[in-house]
Amino acid sequence: MDQLAPVTPAPPLAGDTTADVVIVGAGFTGLWSAYYLKQQQPQLDVVVLEAHTAGYGASGRNGGWVIGELAGEDRLLAGLEPARRDACLAQLRDIPAEVGRVVASEGLDCDFRHGGVLYCAARYPEQEARLRQQLAHWHAHGHGTQDFAWLEVAALQQQLRLAQPYGAVFSPHVATIQPAKLVRALRRRVQELGVRLYEHSPVRTIRRYEALTARGRVRARWVVAALEAYSGSQAGVCSQQIAVQSMIIATEPLPQALWDQIGLEHGQAFSEWSRLVSYGQRSRDNRLVFGARGGYRFQGRLRTPFVLTPAEVALRHKLMLELFPMLAQVRITHGWGGNLGVARGFAPQVVVDAANGVLSAGGYGGEGVGASNLAGRTLAALICGTPDECLQIPWQTTPDKLRRWEPEPLRWLGYNGIMRSFDWEDRVLNDRHSASWKRRLAQQLARRMDGLLQ
Ligand SMILES: Cc1cc2nc3c(=O)[nH]c(=O)nc-3n(C[C@H](O)[C@H](O)[C@H](O)COP(=O)(O)OP(=O)(O)OC[C@H]3O[C@@H](n4cnc5c(N)ncnc54)[C@H](O)[C@@H]3O)c2cc1C
Repeated sequence: MDQLAPVTPAPPLAGDTTADVVIVGAGFTGLWSAYYLKQQQPQLDVVVLEAHTAGYGASGRNGGWVIGELAGEDRLLAGLEPARRDACLAQLRDIPAEVGRVVASEGLDCDFRHGGVLYCAARYPEQEARLRQQLAHWHAHGHGTQDFAWLEVAALQQQLRLAQPYGAVFSPHVATIQPAKLVRALRRRVQELGVRLYEHSPVRTIRRYEALTARGRVRARWVVAALEAYSGSQAGVCSQQIAVQSMIIATEPLPQALWDQIGLEHGQAFSEWSRLVSYGQRSRDNRLVFGARGGYRFQGRLRTPFVLTPAEVALRHKLMLELFPMLAQVRITHGWGGNLGVARGFAPQVVVDAANGVLSAGGYGGEGVGASNLAGRTLAALICGTPDECLQIPWQTTPDKLRRWEPEPLRWLGYNGIMRSFDWEDRVLNDRHSASWKRRLAQQLARRMDGLLQ
């Protein structure tokens, strides 16, 4: 959040060129792919084409959680035999540590802290029951208390002091970063490694062995589409994702006296266990960064530029104060949002079209900061033919096997119907005067609607 020094953009592509690999999009997926390609084969000629400047998309403007999981991983790993499943889970849980290893070895300045996460039952009692169910599920699926552990209220309060706590699950498998700093550090590092970056170079067409801009083309053995929410511009290559919006606010830097009241001393991330998740972290410059909710626009239209309305800030501020009433007098100094990609069934994918030399990855469903690191490693290993452990994870697919989203207006109606049911559940449960029949009805409806998203 500290003001970052302006970056001089890399020059745009001017004319035709060739490379071994051309990557389209300089978010985390594109930058991690470039980084691991150069690690695995330093002599590879890698070009990155970015429509704006690196980090313009979700990667430069997210909540900074580096999560050691993949959205929808239960379904993804369900059919595997136990030994392979355990190996895949170990790979996923290791993502924050892998990011930490690169951050340390490359000296990337990005406020990395591996403080774990507190998933909190924090606004109404039903959250405790749902969280305990989730914990039982984790434990029944091969995780131990070292992975996910229940904290009673007194234990939670030693780490985080919420207005109305019911308990929490602590997991060590989340780290936090300052996303814009990580993008910049990676951008600089891949350039040092010899990657040719062209900014302000929007790609109009991706096709067999080439990426075309208005001012030139790059021909390459491999084309990597690293566009997540922006994939709609390349229908046919990676159109399996829809763009949804997510929004965040941040306070002014808080004095130590307030942090003494709140906690979060060791870089822990936190979230509140409702279906419409609220989450956050304490930034390195001592602000509370708080993300909550988002939206979907008809036909998956992107929202850009993204300036929050006063009502959007006010909603998030209200939710924040429900958890942290001690912040009532504190100023909200920042609010921002971004577009992220969601694949049908919340199934992030690495898509391999070997015949045309086109690869893509994305659809991380709001969990792309860590997943993009895994995607970068996977794409690099596929291109270089490196026998990397990460290739065991069964998220590779081919374009013909992609699960498509429903056509409009079904998609818009469905998405907003589901979100409304979640919102209604949240409001009913958060009102302690709601009758018990209404509480049950709201939960049943939301549960059913949740099932439709899977
Ligand atoms: C507000 C918000 C909060 C989030 N919080 C978290 C979090 O805490 N933890 C987490 O794990 N995930 C989070 N996410 C999701 C995560 O940020 C994304 O999944 C991840 O950054 C996606 O990275 P990417 O590189 O695939 O895509 P992006 O970062 O979106 O990068 C795509 C790039 O492609 C460029 N581009 C677009 N079109 C073209 C074109 N035609 N030619 C060339 N370039 C093009 C864009 O400018 C952009 O730079 C959040 C997202 C948002 C929006």
